[in-house]
Amino acid sequence: MTAKLILGTEIREEILEEITREVAEIKAKHNQVPGLVTILVGENPASISYVTLKIKTAHRVGFKEIQDTQPLDIGEADLLALIDKYNKDDSIHGILVQLPLPKHIDEKKVLNAINPDKDVDGFHPVNVGRLMIGGGEVKFPPCTPAGIQEMIVRAGVETKGAEVVVVGRSNIVGKPIANMMLQKGRGANSTVTIVHTGTKDLATHCKRADILIVAAGVPDLVKPEWIKPGACVIDVGVNRVGEKVSEKTGKKVAILKGDVDFEAAKEIAGSITPVPGGVGPMTITMLMKNTLKSLKFRLGIA
Ligand code: NAP
Repeated sequence: MTAKLILGTEIREEILEEITREVAEIKAKHNQVPGLVTILVGENPASISYVTLKIKTAHRVGFKEIQDTQPLDIGEADLLALIDKYNKDDSIHGILVQLPLPKHIDEKKVLNAINPDKDVDGFHPVNVGRLMIGGGEVKFPPCTPAGIQEMIVRAGVETKGAEVVVVGRSNIVGKPIANMMLQKGRGANSTVTIVHTGTKDLATHCKRADILIVAAGVPDLVKPEWIKPGACVIDVGVNRVGEKVSEKTGKKVAILKGDVDFEAAKEIAGSITPVPGGVGPMTITMLMKNTLKSLKFRLGIA
């Protein structure tokens, strides 16, 4: 058996087209577009490339987008004042601060200064609490878990009553996706188990999973014999396992591998995400969705 591939690259295009259409409709009716600001401190090349991709995507779907780059030596008080300025700006619906910040700045203090109603990353404690409560309380589900759930739904996988096993308990992936899958409602209503390094028998838990979500950051951690035949396997892991020369650009690029032994697993699973091209493209996509949602909340049409 060869599993159906769940491709983030394809689902991203579907969702970005939906967002573009909705932005145009809202603009025609309300004369407003979602506004997204990304604040970058310093010139870390990886951070620049993440921010550039976010801004490019925001531009593509018709948002107002601002890339606000600040010098590496900006003081904490000045950064907090900048956030306050965007908190008060009615044309801005989403504020992102690109991490990491320089050591002289308290990251937690900065992230907590973002108005929770503009925290489209969904990491502010208020939004973490809203996610835990579930239902209508949820405003901005964090982007990677939201992308995972969307992929499961769009792949037509039944979640109601499904055994979901999540490998990993990080605050950005494991805990929020586990919480989302156990809520009542669309794409959820599952029975959820979270496993981690303290778990006694990882294999036994994984073997029970109708939906196996793996976010450990360990290449090939999940062996094919741990996969229940027909299961949906979502591999969140992105591990650099070497370098190769790109045929397209002639430059050196990282060789990426997931947390699941993909080649063997795809012969057992019913559906599976590849790495790269699986969950990866969904994160920025869901960031756009959250920013659009933020404007819709403001307009009372969410
Ligand atoms: P993290 O903060 O390092 O958390 C990893 C979790 O996996 C921890 O809870 C850890 O358990 C658990 N774990 C590690 N090794 C394990 C093992 N051998 N057995 C059982 N559990 C194990 O990582 P993260 O931020 O959640 O990211 C996980 C992976 O997803 C990484 O590869 C990351 O690059 C990738 N990722 C991808 C995207 C994307 O595609 N958009 C977004 C975010 C993350 P303990 O808590 O017990 O230490």
